[in-house]
Order: sequence, then structure tokens, then C-alpha cells
Amino acid sequence: MISMEELLGLISELIKIPSVSYSRELWDIGSFISDWFKENGISAKTIKINDSPMVIASVGRGKRRIMLNGHMDVVPEGSRKKWRYDPFSGKRHNGRIYGRGSSDMKAGLGVLMNATKELADMIDYKIDFVAVPDEEVEGKGSLYLSERYKPDAVFLAEPSNSELIGIGEKGILQLSLIAKGRSVHSSLASKGENAIMKMAETLSNLSKISEIKTEVPKGLKEAMETSLQIYGEDAGRITFNAAMISGGERANVVPAECKATVDMRIPPGTTSDKVLSWIGKNSRECEIIKEEKSDPTYTSQDNVYVRSLIESARRFVKDARPYVILGATDGRFFRERGIPAIKFGPGRLEEAHTANESVSEKEIIIADKIYKDFLTGLNKTPFA
Ligand SMILES: [Zn+2]
Repeated sequence: MISMEELLGLISELIKIPSVSYSRELWDIGSFISDWFKENGISAKTIKINDSPMVIASVGRGKRRIMLNGHMDVVPEGSRKKWRYDPFSGKRHNGRIYGRGSSDMKAGLGVLMNATKELADMIDYKIDFVAVPDEEVEGKGSLYLSERYKPDAVFLAEPSNSELIGIGEKGILQLSLIAKGRSVHSSLASKGENAIMKMAETLSNLSKISEIKTEVPKGLKEAMETSLQIYGEDAGRITFNAAMISGGERANVVPAECKATVDMRIPPGTTSDKVLSWIGKNSRECEIIKEEKSDPTYTSQDNVYVRSLIESARRFVKDARPYVILGATDGRFFRERGIPAIKFGPGRLEEAHTANESVSEKEIIIADKIYKDFLTGLNKTPFA
């Protein structure tokens, strides 16, 4: 058993390595993690994914396989002037650890490393610990894993406020729309065709997509309740954001072209294809270019791994409950292939990507206890 001080120290060390996505320092944190496992008698291998390292350490034996998945990369620190402490100091102060990546998700990464090490000789199944390099950007690490590993379940220790267990997430549809018109002098406006006015009308029609009712899947009812409480009604509906627009040349010319980019977040219960076809029908006068498209995914709240993680969490946190995440995590790659994927970890999502990001040491200790309780309990939990 390592002491809690050691775990907190480990997390502070992870924060000190400025492992921004795509940076050279990803190799530093990769070696740090594999050395740490080696020092603890566990062999770890490093593979190369798009010029970045991915570290895999496997322990235990048996038929059942559990993946513990954390990302090593962080988003850039932004303006240093906004930070009270150096963003890569890993400074500990008043029960918190500060720095870029503290909440998202080096605290979670440390908790998963520690659980893998401590349980190595205590489990009758296999744990694959993986540290991926690019969750904040392309997610190629987890995509690679989802194509080659068939674990019984995947746990991602992304920040989830200790009491929330993420079992579903929204899909994304990002499109560019192009409206064409015909230019004439503005003094003869009615003889031309105004592309900006066409676009304005189309966008206003498309925004009505938020009013379409979608049915919450049965296995997600409780989780959706929680998300509606936390985030309001946007959690349960297709959100529509007209994000960027450009068009026109000068004040006295009727514009011949207008381009807009829109972003929709799609709740479980519908698909990105259905949304796309609705958009197609309701924007007849625009050309549509697909920019990004992914489906919502979820693991049912009745899944045996979800149930037993909630049970373990409730031993330490009264309000532990499932919810649906509004953003995307690497969990989607696994759920798309039918593998249960669950997001749970220390830290707060509100802290992620902000200046003065920090994580509570108390939350780290609770998450550590919950993971160890849950993973030890799996020894007697039957297969799904
Ligand atoms: Zn993250």
C-alpha cells in the first residue's frame, strides 16, 4: 500500500510535466509513467501513435479484462498572467493541487496508476492500464485501443465531481452551409437574389430542430434526470448553434454567396444521420458540407459494471449517481463497438481548461478508495 501522501505527490509530479497535446513532453510523461511501473515491479510497454507515445501496463490474469484508461495530454495553459502559480508547478496548497491538467485529468491518471499497482496481486482478472496521448485532440490512442482490445468494460477517470458517473454522452454534428444568390446593384435589389437573406431564413428554420422531441432510452432514464437537473433542458434536446457566418462584398451589392457553420449536440435517443436528414430537408436552398459527425453513445444503467461502480461509490459519497455528459470523451470509441464505457474520476469539469485549474486532494483520496473498492469487488461480481 502506498500512503495517500505518495499518491498526491505522484499526481503533483505528473502535473509538472507540461504534456500539451502533440508536444515533445508527451514522451517525458510516457517515460515517467513506464518508469514508475517498472520501479513498482510491473512491466509497461510504450507504443507509438502518430508520433506520440501510448503506455500500456497489464496486471493480473483471468478471462475477464478491465481497461483503465487515462489521457496524458493537456490543453495549452493559455495566458500565464492569469495563473496565480506556474501552470506546471504542481503546487499543493490548502488541500488542493494546482496546475494545467490537475482536474483534467492527471489526478484521475494517478488514481488509475495507483489502483493498477495496488491490486496487481489481488485480482482474479486482468487489468489493462492505458495512458493515451491525444484525448484532447483526435482521440487516435483510444480509437486504436478500441479496434484491438475487447475488454469487458472500460473506465475513464475523467473529472466527474466524485459523485457523478458518466454512462452516456451526446453526439456531434458540425456542418458548413453555403447559400448562393445572384449579385446586382443594391438599387435594383429585387432583381437579384440575396444569399445572406436566404441563409438568415435557413438558419432560423434550422434552429427549430431543438423543438423536436427525442425519446430517452430506457437504460438512461435515471442518468438523464440527473443531467436535466444539472444542465437544464439543453441536456435532453438537440442544441443548435449558428457558430460562424460570412458573406457579402460591399454595402451597395446584393451578396451572391453566404457561408455559415453550425454545430448541433445530439442526445441519446436519436442519431446524427436522422438529424442530418432533417437538416437536408429543411435547408433546401443551401449546399451542405459535413465537418464532423458522431453519434450519441451510452452504456445502460442496468449494466453490471455500472451498477457495481455506483454501489462502491455510494459507500463513500452519498449522492453518487449516473448522468449523461454533454461533451465527448474517448468512451465513445468503445461504446460504438458494444463495449461498456464508464467515466468516473476526481476533479471538476468546471475546472478543466481554465486558468488556475486545480483539484481537491480530498476528492482524489475518495476516488482512489472508490476505484479500489470497486475493482476488488469485481473478484466476486459475475460476468455481464
Ligand atoms: Zn479529459
